[in-house]
Amino acid sequence: DENVTVAELSQAMGIPVNELIKKLMHLGVMATINQEIDADTAMVLAAEWDISVDVTKSFTAEELLAEDAEDIEEDMIIRPPVVTVMGHVDHGKTSLLDSIRHTDVIASEAGGITQHIGAYQVEVQGKKITFLDTPGHEAFTAMRARGAKVTDIAILVVAADDGVMPQTIEAINHAKAAEVPIIVAINKIDKPDATPDRVKQELTEHGLVVEEWGGETIAVPVSAKTGQNLDQLLEMVLLVAEVQDLKANPNRTAHGTVIEAKLDKGRGPVATVLVARGTLNVGDAITAGTSSGKVRAMIDDRGRRVKKAGPSMPVEVLGLSDVPHAGDTFAVVDDEKLFKQVIAERMAKRREEDHRRTSKVSLDDLFKQI
Ligand code: GDP
Ligand code: MG
Repeated sequence: DENVTVAELSQAMGIPVNELIKKLMHLGVMATINQEIDADTAMVLAAEWDISVDVTKSFTAEELLAEDAEDIEEDMIIRPPVVTVMGHVDHGKTSLLDSIRHTDVIASEAGGITQHIGAYQVEVQGKKITFLDTPGHEAFTAMRARGAKVTDIAILVVAADDGVMPQTIEAINHAKAAEVPIIVAINKIDKPDATPDRVKQELTEHGLVVEEWGGETIAVPVSAKTGQNLDQLLEMVLLVAEVQDLKANPNRTAHGTVIEAKLDKGRGPVATVLVARGTLNVGDAITAGTSSGKVRAMIDDRGRRVKKAGPSMPVEVLGLSDVPHAGDTFAVVDDEKLFKQVIAERMAKRREEDHRRTSKVSLDDLFKQI
């Protein structure tokens, strides 16, 4: 039952009936004590008393996802691949990410490419590719540790003047464990002491045999410095993505992963999220890790305010109550669920002997009591 009477709501929220009625009048709803109001109206009321901020904490995104319906094939559309750049220190991960970013003509023309939000998109032959802008294994490992499978393709950067090094091997192992296909970027081929063939030889010792030697590993010799062959590298990314047949349903409430998050002095908690499926909208109520809130604003990788974010699109989200962790799952809580949560939490709190607001009753406990 989605409706609730003013009296029940008053009890659940711990707010006097006359105050609720006053607020409802203010909202243009004439109500009596026994009148039923709908979930949306109750949500608005809850928001008036700032109740939506901390109540979703025991309702995790994972739990919400568990209830989700299956997608049907007709709703699925091709989504951009999400790419992580990995490799040994100083082999050129950051340089490669920067150069790739600058290959995007549209971005360069827009001029707003300095924005760092932890991920960005480029367009190649009319198709988008999403890059996670945090090179290194830490981010990748942190996300995997939280069970988030964010990356579709790993670009393994190996400097042609240095060859396979310990972190190269680590990266190979991470990607293999996550079952993420590897594309090798043999970098720094502009250097006079570059020996790409030696790199290929060393890679075979770790199970990566390049195509020209009869294997299945795609390797592209590149220079992040001069930009040589970056177009070819991106084409290979699109090729591998095509084989993977990456699809998502944009027509449902969004869920995805937090890529990075910080506390911004002026803007409060700011999280860069990557939408896995569905479409995230300004105004959506979301939970992310142990934080929650309403999406107040979204900013894309070019620093532009956007109202929507579809599958594989990274955006900064403003409006969360706390700073979530990289790798946390986020999910939209539709109003009805949030409303029920508000009610449930409030009732639980009232049951407590001390009536303190600091109670931490989980939903499970609550249902046992009822
Ligand atoms: P990261 O530690 O893997 O992120 O490596 P960086 O991108 O910071 O690069 C390390 C160093 O290698 C820097 O001094 C870069 O300028 C240089 N570098 C990166 N890519 C290239 C390249 O393609 N050619 C040359 N000559 N130098 C490069
Ligand atoms: Mg770097």
